[in-house]
Amino acid sequence: MDNNEKIPAERLKKLDSLFEAFSIIGDDTYVYLCDMKYDFSRWEKNLVDEFGLPGEYMFQAGEIWEEHIHEEDRKSFHEGIDDVFSGKSDGHDMQYRARRKDGGYDVCTCRGIILKDADGQPEYFGGAIRNHNQQSHVDTLTGLRNQYGFFEDLQRYINNNTTMRTFIVGIGKMTEINELYGYAVGNSVLQYFGRYLMDNVGDRGGTYRLDGAKFAIITETQSYDEIKNTYEIIRKRFRDSIKIHDKRIMLELNAATMMIDDFVTDNQTVYACLNFAYEDSKIKKHGDLVEFINNSEGDKISKTERLHVIRDSINQDFNGFYLVYQPVVDVETEKLKGVEALLRWRNDKYGVVPPDEFIPVLEGDPLFPKLGEWILQTALKDALEIQKIIPELSININLSYAQLEKADFTDTVLDIVDKMDFNPEKLCLEVTERCKLLDLDLLRNTMISLRSHGIHMALDDFGTGYSSVGILKNLSFDTIKIDKSFVQEIEEDEKARRLVNSILEMAVLYGTDVCVEGIETCGMCDILRGYEVNSFQGYYYSRPIEIEELMSKIKTEAGELCFSKTL
Ligand code: C2E
Ligand code: CA
Ligand code: CA
Repeated sequence: MDNNEKIPAERLKKLDSLFEAFSIIGDDTYVYLCDMKYDFSRWEKNLVDEFGLPGEYMFQAGEIWEEHIHEEDRKSFHEGIDDVFSGKSDGHDMQYRARRKDGGYDVCTCRGIILKDADGQPEYFGGAIRNHNQQSHVDTLTGLRNQYGFFEDLQRYINNNTTMRTFIVGIGKMTEINELYGYAVGNSVLQYFGRYLMDNVGDRGGTYRLDGAKFAIITETQSYDEIKNTYEIIRKRFRDSIKIHDKRIMLELNAATMMIDDFVTDNQTVYACLNFAYEDSKIKKHGDLVEFINNSEGDKISKTERLHVIRDSINQDFNGFYLVYQPVVDVETEKLKGVEALLRWRNDKYGVVPPDEFIPVLEGDPLFPKLGEWILQTALKDALEIQKIIPELSININLSYAQLEKADFTDTVLDIVDKMDFNPEKLCLEVTERCKLLDLDLLRNTMISLRSHGIHMALDDFGTGYSSVGILKNLSFDTIKIDKSFVQEIEEDEKARRLVNSILEMAVLYGTDVCVEGIETCGMCDILRGYEVNSFQGYYYSRPIEIEELMSKIKTEAGELCFSKTL
């Protein structure tokens, strides 16, 4: 502030106090204030930093700012400012593009008004510049920091190696509340809840509103028990119902927590882990607090560290990911009918990581659909190779609910199938009961549309969840795959045989083909041949193997193509 001598100290003080009064939260909006008698202004620091202005305090700031305005917008800006300073207008309201420090342009809306002195002379000119390209970090409904603010703070703690505990809590059935009482009530519920969290827990750390009805807290509290107790108090409070617009509303909550004590990770990975625990709380634990444990006893490397590297591989051209294929054979002939593509990941430091260790956590991640496309493309490319020798071969590919949730999923699949000139009848997409997390109508429409193009659909791991039958009733599948847990004991256990029998009868009822997974012995095959089963898959025929190995087996078996005990 070396030029400040030109403005009297008391005027500078007045400028500062007015400026503070002007300042409003919202990091996409910057405040500026100009003492017109001295043409001396104070501009908000964020704006100064982002646009590379000389400093927070500037003489003739209008001219300096004009330099930053896109040349096509400069003339109208200049005229607008001239009008303000010459007294022709009382304020301005315009939109222009302004150049950032890095050379790019942001679209800004600039509004300003004139404050006059006792004699009616213009004294101050002040207002706000809103940057439309800047992601706001504040949620307008609750006034809390939003998910961008959450991610930013989380990353800062990770970068600074600061041990923190994160906690997310969400209101279940928010859609129902909106439908039942209307959005105004729904909004008030969110505001009330956000305010309650801030008042009751906020003093221990930051409070955030994430997407929808999910809130987060980042706190220095290390103790799990303390968080659990706090959560039980919050839970009880909202079970007792709150009064909003004369309505008594009870809220059911879900929650998850996780320590950030491993810093070889990033905010997105932490969020994916927290979300995974949150889904568990919602779906399996009736809202009880679930903790994501990063380091199980004996683990040398933390889960978040490994997940971070795996997640990062998606952005590194899928480096480290590869597919293995497990044969599916015909029950009668034991000949190869198809293969199931199974995802693997490996690198030098972590070795081969099985899919169960990363898919369930990452499948809710925004990056997952991109990986899903890579799986589809890679598997179809390999399948085309196999089809050169076995033209009727089908390929089975597993889907995650996050892929199905995307509005353009069907188009993406059809596009890839079309571009690769793959026969859609030879593609079978496997979904698990986790898909019931999705809107059933959405799932039904997606499936109808895929099947109308000839693509087959299979229900995977049948019998393991709790609404398998419900899913079968509501959606139509071409195949159901019986989970290995049902057949493991059929050789020794009569009850297990009867259970499989009733599951298979159900399949007959719905008219689908049946594939039994987890066939490990000849004895299992013999028993199951007595039932209506179409195909077998399991270690007895082959473990999942890489494409090169599969191709060499197929080539040596070419005449026979019988996979019985040969792989
Ligand atoms: P899944 O779809 O049920 O895959 C079958 C799993 O059973 C595979 O485990 C396979 O190696 C294993 N298996 C096959 N035969 C036998 C057997 O005879 N005995 C025993 N005990 N196990 C057998 P894997 O490869 O570890 O995959 C685990 C799960 O990860 C898969 O279960 C699937 O849910 C998921 N997954 C794998 N690849 C993908 C993928 O590309 N996308 C998605 N969304 N999920 C995938
Ligand atoms: Ca599967
Ligand atoms: Ca399965």
